[in-house]
Amino acid sequence: MSDCLFCNIVTKNVPSKIVYEDETLIAIEDINPSAPVHILLIPKKHIASLNDTSVDDEVLLGHMQMVAGQIAKEQNIAVDGYRLVNNCGTLGGQTVMHLHYHLLGGREMLWPPG
Ligand code: 5GP
Ligand code: ZN
Repeated sequence: MSDCLFCNIVTKNVPSKIVYEDETLIAIEDINPSAPVHILLIPKKHIASLNDTSVDDEVLLGHMQMVAGQIAKEQNIAVDGYRLVNNCGTLGGQTVMHLHYHLLGGREMLWPPG
């Protein structure tokens, strides 16, 4: 088993509530939701953070955003609006060092974020 939590979620060694999956990414419900809809989009490839991406990942990163928009529609938060977030590094609040986007919706979001 990998020592990376999200790699283990991708391989299903750690269970999760999967809302979407394709060849390159998985989307799951966050275990500790910060909003009525809180979904994590996780690439199957291990990339520690946005700092560790290269031009080779451009298609994957674009695909993640397209799928986020698609899931927002499926979760009925697209019309009212939602937030797509990447926390990068210590000051960005990243706690799991495997790149992921948070899709948050179902309530009004504050700005600036904390
Ligand atoms: P970060 O703080 O790295 O941006 O986000 C990590 C997210 O992963 C947090 O929102 C946290 O609640 C979520 N999380 C941590 N462990 C698990 C887990 O085992 N399963 C699921 N589904 N989410 C997790
Ligand atoms: Zn990983």
